[in-house]
Amino acid sequence: MRAIAPTLALLGGTPALVGVPAPQWPPRSAETGRKLNELYESGNWAFGMTNDLDSFCEEFARAHDCRHGVFMVNGTVTLMIALAASGIGPGDEVIVPAYTWLATASAVKHVGAKIVFVDVEPTTLCLDATLLEAAITSRTRAIIPVHFMGSMTDIDALMAVADRHDLIVIEDCAQAHGSRWNGRAVGSFGHIASFSFQHNKIMSCGEGGICITNDAAVAERLYRAAYIGYAPGESFGNFKSPPPVGLTCYNFRGTQFNAVILRQQLAELRGRVATYWVNARRLQKRIAQIPGVRLQAPGRLADPQSYYKIAFIFDGTPLERVPIDMLRRALIAEGVPVIRSYGAVPDHLLFNLEEGKDYSLPAEGIAVSRKIGGDRVVMLAHQWLGSSAETLERIADAVEKVAAGAEALCARAS
Ligand SMILES: *Cc1c(COP(=O)(O)O)cnc(C)c1O
Repeated sequence: MRAIAPTLALLGGTPALVGVPAPQWPPRSAETGRKLNELYESGNWAFGMTNDLDSFCEEFARAHDCRHGVFMVNGTVTLMIALAASGIGPGDEVIVPAYTWLATASAVKHVGAKIVFVDVEPTTLCLDATLLEAAITSRTRAIIPVHFMGSMTDIDALMAVADRHDLIVIEDCAQAHGSRWNGRAVGSFGHIASFSFQHNKIMSCGEGGICITNDAAVAERLYRAAYIGYAPGESFGNFKSPPPVGLTCYNFRGTQFNAVILRQQLAELRGRVATYWVNARRLQKRIAQIPGVRLQAPGRLADPQSYYKIAFIFDGTPLERVPIDMLRRALIAEGVPVIRSYGAVPDHLLFNLEEGKDYSLPAEGIAVSRKIGGDRVVMLAHQWLGSSAETLERIADAVEKVAAGAEALCARAS
């Protein structure tokens, strides 16, 4: 075994990872730069002025085993439109995991339905399908599973419950571009899937999102709801039929710039996911040998799956006693720029909805979301999984040092 510097960098020792710049994010290339400049010079910026955005939607949907894709301005409105296009509104209930980015829940509020939180599994940190039945009432209309950080929801178990109760499934794939479950792409299991292209996500154009589906009638409703009421292929001065009565139609269209940036990343996605998958397992092998810390477990039938965050969970002896913020600071000092996780949605500072009126919690509580999600996780951005084998070893060294320094960190914290 390699000799490891005993003193934590936080306490004056030498960092485990030095002189390694953060991997480039978002991806850029000279060719895409040229294409963006061409588009700029042409002046054809808006949706419909070239075929770029239509082509991207088709290519992205196909890469996820779906026939239809509808681009929108972000991955929050894609969730909201998916719910609205499914006819979900006031009086309805929608089940979401208690540990996710808060948009999964706020989209439900935006269509006037009630949010029903369900806890996550301690291993995958994804929606626990065994808890679903207890949360289903006569008002339940839909479930929004989230393929979260570095894992995937057990979509077979979830779909079985949804089918039994005739519920709509909207897969929130904002953190799962390119993941596959048992040979099939995420987003192709539920009725609709939603992805985000926000800056930090696995594919990025700054802000953006897409809904994909295999149902042509659903695709048309999604399109009309986000494209002012037009049907696909229609435009100003060229429309034949009105949108269905009761479907509120907005403008959430993107620009051709989004398409130029995202087509490059889609072409690279498969290779990037494969690299991340191999490197995550390499890192996992090292972390598994360190007492007190574990990585979020990948999806049961994932092969391969993408990673949005590498989630380190510090809930074993001796690290469970070290305050999470001390662990975060110690890792940053070692050269590993981790951040705190956002924790359970109802506890998030920006989540200002009212319990009872806007959302409900299960009688048994959401202990995993609160204890692990809220207090035991730090995350490293996915692009670090594109690092060299050497850098990945140094990242593992940093975690090993922090584990060995648990006593010192406890003493410093008290
Ligand atoms: C980022 C994210 C969203 C929202 O996407 P935006 O494009 O940022 O609006 C929704 N759900 C999950 C799980 C996310 O991570």
